[in-house]
Amino acid sequence: MPLYDYKCPNCENQFEARHSFGESAPPCPVCGHVEVQRLILTAPTFALGVLAHPGDGRNATKEQLQDKWAEETPKLRKKLVDKLGEKAVNSIPSLNMGSE
Ligand SMILES: [Zn+2]
Repeated sequence: MPLYDYKCPNCENQFEARHSFGESAPPCPVCGHVEVQRLILTAPTFALGVLAHPGDGRNATKEQLQDKWAEETPKLRKKLVDKLGEKAVNSIPSLNMGSE
């Protein structure tokens, strides 16, 4: 069963509770308040850890990838034009992205 973090809005108590996914939150163990807030701490921390590797090509930002694409595509396109002809290259949609 997953472990959840909760915070009671009534008494500010933070506590952990282990229960199945479908079950609703347990009441605050201090004051018995039932509408406690689930604190989602684990997932974002984990996600940040995965994403925070600057300079790692696998985690390049969308902007970096677009720059790379913009830089490489005309070169590749020119090679293909030399080889296949302008008409053939114009029929490849992915090579004409953002060129206009
Ligand atoms: Zn409470």
